[in-house]
Amino acid sequence: MRSRDLMAEATAYLIEHSMSGAPREAETLLTEITGTRREDIYSKDPVIPEDKVKLFRDAFRRRAGREPLQYITGTVDFADMRLKVGPGVLVPRPETELLVAEVAKRAQEPKKVLDLCTGSGCIALELERRFPEADIVGTDVSSEALAYARQNVSELESVNVNLMHGEMFAPVDGMRFDVIVANPPYIPAGEIDGLQPEVAKFEPRSALDGGTDGLDFYRVIARKAPGHMENGGLLALELGAGQAQEVVTMLKEHGFRDIEVLKDYAGHKRMLFCRFKMD
Ligand code: SAM
Ligand code: GLN
Repeated sequence: MRSRDLMAEATAYLIEHSMSGAPREAETLLTEITGTRREDIYSKDPVIPEDKVKLFRDAFRRRAGREPLQYITGTVDFADMRLKVGPGVLVPRPETELLVAEVAKRAQEPKKVLDLCTGSGCIALELERRFPEADIVGTDVSSEALAYARQNVSELESVNVNLMHGEMFAPVDGMRFDVIVANPPYIPAGEIDGLQPEVAKFEPRSALDGGTDGLDFYRVIARKAPGHMENGGLLALELGAGQAQEVVTMLKEHGFRDIEVLKDYAGHKRMLFCRFKMD
């Protein structure tokens, strides 16, 4: 079949299943799944071999069922890296790209960096590019997520990112860091089912669920991070919408200072930076 006929078939199918942005979704799937160049779809209108047509039809049907596009293509672009993702790991978000960029502005040649709740490894791997001299540890409780992180570490030929499996700070017992970054699960448990189906039905609940009020992980971090930070170290956190005030209060109670909150592109207070200083 010709590429333009396939575009028409997929777009109609996606519209029938109430997908917004159907033509663009169809185009992305056609290029990613069949390896056709975007500009060729319209100009050369190449014949797509039958085996690829079949893969493409599977792909747009999955998408019509609201599976995340990135699970179907198996990749996501984060900063200037292309990462592997799929069922079992959270798809890194643009807000998190912003978090990493802001960490890079504030950290001064860190020697040791911890990325708690690393998921695909996106934060750890981007920080390695920014700070090639640093030793970076990424930890996660999910073996499934870590399997993607391992693949990303290997494909990007990372040398300084060390992945460890376990609950929060358990794998880094006795270690101290100049920078600790985390994008922990922060959605209040009762709100997950109301999120868009791509998130609620397909992304791992353990990557989203922050307990009843969404703040469980911040409580652990406020309490335990001081025992893992060098004097003057930087703590950087991604936050859920509406959580900044409570997290700030929690951190102050545990001795953090110079607290700074920044907004994301949508105007939500999304990131927090602070320092731990011993008197
Ligand atoms: N850092 C990645 C990113 O920004 O795309 C993933 C963030 S995702 C919101 C949260 C991650 O925390 C998931 O990968 C999940 O497996 C992990 N996680 C959940 N509970 C955990 C725990 N108790 N200890 C360590 N990691 C945990
Ligand atoms: N940013 C994700 C979402 O809103 C949630 C990730 C998280 O809990 N840290 O879908």
